Amino acid sequence: MADVFNAGAEDVLTTAGKYIHNKESLDLISRAANYAAEAHAGQFRRSGEPYTSHLYNVAYILASLHVGPKTIAAGLLHDTIEDTGISRDELAELFDDEIADLVESVTKIGALKFKGKDDPEYQAANHRKIFIAMAKDVRVILIKLADRLHNMRTLEYQPESSQKRIAAETLDVYAPIAHRLGISAIKNELEDLSFYYLNRKEYYRIAHLVETRKQERDESVQSMISGITDLLNEHDIEFRIFGRSKHLYSIYHKMVARNKRFEEILDLLAIRIVTRTELNCYEVLGYIHARYKPIPGRLKDYIAMPKTNMYQSLHTTIMGDDGKIFEVQIRTEEMDAIAERGVAAHWKYKEGGHYDARTEQKEIEDKLSWFRDFAVFTSDSEDESASEYMATLQRDVFEANVYVMTPKGRVIDLPNGATPIDFAYRIHTDVGHTAVGALVNDAMVPLNTELHTGDVVSIRTMKGTGPSEDWLKFVKTNQAKNKIRAWFAKRETEKKEQMIEQGEKTLSDELRKRGFEPKTYMEKKKIEAIMKEFSAKDYTDFMYGLAVKTINATSVCEKLTNQKRSVNDNEALTKLLSRDPGKKHVMTKTGIYVPGIESIKLSLALCCLPVYGDPIVGYVSKGEGVKVHRCDCVNVVNQKNRLIDCYWEEEDKERLYDSDITIIAEDRNFLLTDIVTSVSQNRAPMLKVSANVNREDLTTTIKMKIQIHNVQQLEVLLANLRKVEGVISVKRVSH
Ligand code: MN
Repeated sequence: MADVFNAGAEDVLTTAGKYIHNKESLDLISRAANYAAEAHAGQFRRSGEPYTSHLYNVAYILASLHVGPKTIAAGLLHDTIEDTGISRDELAELFDDEIADLVESVTKIGALKFKGKDDPEYQAANHRKIFIAMAKDVRVILIKLADRLHNMRTLEYQPESSQKRIAAETLDVYAPIAHRLGISAIKNELEDLSFYYLNRKEYYRIAHLVETRKQERDESVQSMISGITDLLNEHDIEFRIFGRSKHLYSIYHKMVARNKRFEEILDLLAIRIVTRTELNCYEVLGYIHARYKPIPGRLKDYIAMPKTNMYQSLHTTIMGDDGKIFEVQIRTEEMDAIAERGVAAHWKYKEGGHYDARTEQKEIEDKLSWFRDFAVFTSDSEDESASEYMATLQRDVFEANVYVMTPKGRVIDLPNGATPIDFAYRIHTDVGHTAVGALVNDAMVPLNTELHTGDVVSIRTMKGTGPSEDWLKFVKTNQAKNKIRAWFAKRETEKKEQMIEQGEKTLSDELRKRGFEPKTYMEKKKIEAIMKEFSAKDYTDFMYGLAVKTINATSVCEKLTNQKRSVNDNEALTKLLSRDPGKKHVMTKTGIYVPGIESIKLSLALCCLPVYGDPIVGYVSKGEGVKVHRCDCVNVVNQKNRLIDCYWEEEDKERLYDSDITIIAEDRNFLLTDIVTSVSQNRAPMLKVSANVNREDLTTTIKMKIQIHNVQQLEVLLANLRKVEGVISVKRVSH
């Protein structure tokens, strides 16, 4: 690569001094240079040079663009926040708010990480937009461009892996921005430098092609220049004329993009004529076309129709006497300055006594709004039509996005008005669901805070929490809305599933209690056959009803079992209704009688297991005859209209009744042995026993099924069990 002029502090001041004459302004620049030198003292670049060389070169590039003194000062200071730890406020105190803001913005943009992902084209276009949106002020972009240009010039000192990444980013993001701002000098150099690092083989191939034809081309260009010079001298026109070479990347780009051979690139021989007035430009064009043969369709009038980046010039292509083809550009000095320095030429620093802060601010605002319109151009196409321009403008300005960053510098673009919740869902669905707080620029903010471009956002999450329905009122992205709704829908489904399970359990418990096998009765088709009678529209609805008790489990049980035993049921009911209370009772197998009924199907309820002597009551079921419960059994206390009195007959001394007992005791060695001993001392056969230790309070729960003759014997047994060491409670169980 060609050696580039390496500027020092002196060169910055000399170059600035060519167009800045105000002493205060020049003092500001040297003060910034001195401060930067002090702040970065002892820091070196990879090249081994003092860090200040980077700052002087950046400032020199800026001065070459004729930017204002504050921009040059900010250029000198652009790395102080990042590398020397000084704060924005300190800079504001030492210099002023404007310079401090410029340096801060440059630092923020520096934190952006552009990583091409799935669609590199989209990413690149997006990154340019983000870049411009974040810069807000065109001067920030000029500083970043100068910064990048010098970093590209010294890229050889970076490790090879970084070189390619930085060069690709330069080509994708920085060069198109330079182009959009019309700064062709910077754009061309950035492109050639990127080209060199990205595709060195092609770079050298084209450089070689250009070199081998150089002499021949130089001769052709020189003879054409003298021809035109003679021609224009015949007329009274002020002009300067020079040959110019296309930069290598544009040659490469045309060869690849238009699939042309080197020889075919017509405007390889290029001449520029710079004259005084717009009218002169058309005059010059007329004289040239009269003398040399123009190639049809190649005349472009960018004076009448400026390019969107404000570029103005006449372009034509003519054939020389030797048959060689030349592209000729004709423009005024002002147009030439704009073509080289672009937006910076518009930005040209103005000096004058009446330049107060208020008018300066106004002018900056005017320029900014112009710049914002300007900033929406991210397309590379050379000839953008007016309608495309309007479309882009509308899309980007009226549907403008905000660009915020993660603490690690990842850029997230969101619609205007977006909140930390939108941000959280963009990061990850789970981050959104479990968000409980948000930090914006290190300050805790409410979750409905509106985010702004450049904000650094981080989300606090807490496991196990879920979104709030209130979030739907303020989130802006459809993504967040959909995820929140999906979360609630899923929770509803889960809740419903739980309710169905609960309903099924209620019903199976009820059936089991009544001595029915739930599996037999709870077949889906059996349920479906009866559910209409309970106004349930489907199985789910039915079970839900059972769970929330809008459907009565007892009635369902009766309905379900009724279908099978309707005959028996009718029989029992008929007998019940036709009983004669005065009639003498008859002995039954269960040892229980219902006054007034001679024979009826009687059985002991499995839920409360009455034993001889317990107060009892009969429940008239719909197919199982009369179930005998203990009077205090929870399953019958609310069934008054189906209960009938029943009584124990004389005791059968041989008969044993099952009874369930639960004992809670402090866990200790030999506890179970002592309990079992106590039970056998009371001559109660034990059918089943289980023990479970509760690890939390170190108690043991012992459940057992025993057999017993009557309630007196049972009471004694329970009393004895309560005396066993460590026992806390002893209870008969009712299910
Ligand atoms: Mn820098």
